[in-house]
Amino acid sequence: MKKRRIKPIVWVISGIALVVIVGIVILIGQIRYRNSVPYKLKTLGYTTEEVKVIETRSKTEIDKILKLKYSKSLSSLLQEKYFIFDNLDRYLAYQEKNAKEKASHVVSMVNVHADYEFYTNTKETDTSKGNLILVNKYNRLTEKFQPDDLVDISNQYAYGTPEIRDEVYKQFRSMFNAAKKDNITLIITSGYRDYAFQENLWNKYSDQKGEEWADSIAARAGFSEHQTGLSMDILTYNSTLDTFEQTDAFKWLSENAHKYGFILRYPKDKEEITGYSYESWHYRYVGVEVATKVKELGITFDEYYAYFIAQNKK
Ligand SMILES: [Zn+2]
Repeated sequence: MKKRRIKPIVWVISGIALVVIVGIVILIGQIRYRNSVPYKLKTLGYTTEEVKVIETRSKTEIDKILKLKYSKSLSSLLQEKYFIFDNLDRYLAYQEKNAKEKASHVVSMVNVHADYEFYTNTKETDTSKGNLILVNKYNRLTEKFQPDDLVDISNQYAYGTPEIRDEVYKQFRSMFNAAKKDNITLIITSGYRDYAFQENLWNKYSDQKGEEWADSIAARAGFSEHQTGLSMDILTYNSTLDTFEQTDAFKWLSENAHKYGFILRYPKDKEEITGYSYESWHYRYVGVEVATKVKELGITFDEYYAYFIAQNKK
């Protein structure tokens, strides 16, 4: 039987059809790719590595990133431990102004609002936070704020009889007794200070040498952590604010204060973040759990608050 031959025209038509199908498939692929996140990011200027980092974010966050111009700092900022997406615009602006700063510093500064001038963009602090109230140069207490459980500190523990909140006093006494066993005597030199006290203090300094100088050595009224009744200045025998850092008492506190719920509130080399010069004598009560965490993480209370309390991150 004669073999039936396929006509050349069928070959041609099949060939054309195949080319058209392949073409359509490629075209659809192209259209899809052009609508994809990686393509859009690459068009903005992001590298493959940067795209990988950005792609880990949520869709809403990626949409926001796509609306911004390319930033070479973005992927390092996104990888920072305490990165808060809502702060993105401020991180980018701060990084642009401070090109040499590391992403970690940029994130810390912006999280604590230190990208703003001191005493600007201030707000009334959330006093419902109990032992975790934040008071700094951007978060203030009202003139009326006064803790309702202030107690007098016995002059066995203090110079004069300053006041402090009840729980803080109990915890301080436990700490005092533990230190005593190691032959260390802790002495409270300042506790609760009310709004009027701070106002008079600042005004006195301001009258002497002007506002700038007053700001450099005293908090403005409402902005002093001493008004919370959770802060105290601690020294030991034969020490002053200037020499306390060299004492065994300071060393003891550095190792043990967190066990009683206290943190060194204005650490060395964190001046830009806290807004305060290093104060080896100023301790803040935040409770044992938070004090331990702050110490372990090696961050300031301002940074801790911004991320773990205000943002409720775990
Ligand atoms: Zn103090």
